[in-house]
Amino acid sequence: MLTFDHYFMPRTLEAAFDALEQVPGARLVAGATDLLPWAREGRAGDVHLPAMVDVSRIPELCDISVTEQRVLLGAATPIAAYERDARLRRLAPVLGPCAAWFADDQIREQATIGGNIVNASPAGDSQPALLVLNARVHLARREGGKIQRREMPLSEFILGPGKTALKDREILTALTIDPIEGWGSAFEKVGHRRSLAISTVCMATAVKLDWARRNVEACRVAIGAVGPVPERLSAIEAMLVGQVPTPRLVREAAQTAADQVRSRSRQEYRREVLVNFVERALVSALSRAGLEVARLPKEMAHA
Ligand SMILES: Cc1cc2nc3c(=O)[nH]c(=O)nc-3n(C[C@H](O)[C@H](O)[C@H](O)COP(=O)(O)OP(=O)(O)OC[C@H]3O[C@@H](n4cnc5c(N)ncnc54)[C@H](O)[C@@H]3O)c2cc1C
Repeated sequence: MLTFDHYFMPRTLEAAFDALEQVPGARLVAGATDLLPWAREGRAGDVHLPAMVDVSRIPELCDISVTEQRVLLGAATPIAAYERDARLRRLAPVLGPCAAWFADDQIREQATIGGNIVNASPAGDSQPALLVLNARVHLARREGGKIQRREMPLSEFILGPGKTALKDREILTALTIDPIEGWGSAFEKVGHRRSLAISTVCMATAVKLDWARRNVEACRVAIGAVGPVPERLSAIEAMLVGQVPTPRLVREAAQTAADQVRSRSRQEYRREVLVNFVERALVSALSRAGLEVARLPKEMAHA
């Protein structure tokens, strides 16, 4: 069971830092969809917190804004916005399918992007999608009475299962991502059941075509849930950039993904799933970018 002495709902970042400083041991919370099950299911035993500081009503953390160079997503943006927000559907189309695979309607409205990142579960669904968007995390901390801000790539922020570079009493305020309008993208997930399931493998891919040269101008592929941290598959990306994406090349690139599986359980299964996923995702992304590439028949894959 989760109990606490105080529940703060600050409306500004300053007020959130006031609360964090006022009550030592205070815990940040946003949608509580990780925090509550963590306490309730007894994984952490009975949890008593001196205070909870709910950051979900701070306008700065709820903002979505768009410039030519980047899209800013406040950390308290609900996962549901991935699908609902028309700007995100256009500029970051890989996020919509990620939300569709994420839990159910109720959880998607409550769960926040920031909570998903800070929780740093290897099976977190947002991470691969955000990695292909070159996401950067924006952090704020109050030191000597002044708010200090820093930012870093998402790939450097997540250090291991449940571990991030977040400092004590630091708040994740936002993520910024590259707009990828006109690219083709895809998100794939397999779990024990659709949606309300922990991912066994999840991955995202985004592809930009150079129509003049009829080849792949840019390619980004990221996976989660197969190792301790989600990561970009740079070997696959390098194999495809500058090349005409034939069915054989796509298959060969996908096959290199098998080496990424490092989780201890069900390795063979994860390898096979991953290779098929990467191939299917690349084919879908290429198709959404405007180029139909057939999947190589299985019997030809090893020929
Ligand atoms: C039924 C169910 C289904 C689920 N399905 C999925 C799924 O399909 N895919 C998936 O990836 N996850 C899933 N989850 C997990 C969870 O919903 C997500 O990880 C969610 O995004 C967490 O966000 P939250 O706002 O609820 O985090 P919270 O529980 O509020 O917080 C999680 C952690 O992040 C910290 N935190 C939150 N916001 C900030 C911030 N701005 N700055 C610093 N620290 C912060 C908190 O202190 C806490 O340690 C599911 C959970 C449930 C209960």
